[in-house]
Amino acid sequence: MQEELAALEELQKLDLDILELSNELGSIPIAIEETRENVSHIGEILERERERLRESEEWRRDREKAVELQSDLLTKSKAKLQLARNEKENKAAQREIDTIRKNIQEREKETLDVMEAIEQYRKAIEEHTVEFSELEKHLKATEEEGNERMREMESAIGNTEERRAQLSSRVPDKLLRQYERIHKRLGLALVPVIEGSCTGCNIGLQPQMYNLLQRGNKIFTCPNCFRILVYKKVEDPESGAEKQD
Ligand SMILES: [Zn+2]
Repeated sequence: MQEELAALEELQKLDLDILELSNELGSIPIAIEETRENVSHIGEILERERERLRESEEWRRDREKAVELQSDLLTKSKAKLQLARNEKENKAAQREIDTIRKNIQEREKETLDVMEAIEQYRKAIEEHTVEFSELEKHLKATEEEGNERMREMESAIGNTEERRAQLSSRVPDKLLRQYERIHKRLGLALVPVIEGSCTGCNIGLQPQMYNLLQRGNKIFTCPNCFRILVYKKVEDPESGAEKQD
């Protein structure tokens, strides 16, 4: 029975390895997807900034056209002022000129504001373009490394499964099925008993059961957590006390 339990213990180690490998394998596509999402997020930001830049440039051209138009009007009003024949016409032309000048000032102020915005958009676009291309490079590397790593993990899982299959032939079917049932539910299905306690749930075993377990003729399960118990002699009394990490 001891040999069979030892084989099962070895098999459990392989199962835990397979579990760990599978978890890591599963995390790789998630990491790749996260990087891909970052790339597309920056891509969207860039697209919005480019759109705003286009709008701002259009807005700026409109203001400049408006200033040109007002400048033409100003020239005409100045000519009118020159030709004014009396005080009334003079005042009217002067009022027109004042209004036009005010308009021009306002349009020019708007032009300056929009030019400032354009400058900011250009800077942001420049920065995000660099960031975007770096992220794209990072994505490519992540994909390549990830695919390579996944191939490694798949092959490692395959090898471990092969070793597990070999090992399982050394464990009686009934015991193996029992182990697998518990493993599915609790992960760790086979646990050592140390100093009379199940290390799966920490419950103290009855002395009679503990004595029988030490003989090693029969399979025992913990009455509390139902895990399969393996008797372990404490070889180094300090090893337990030193486990402080
Ligand atoms: Zn237990």
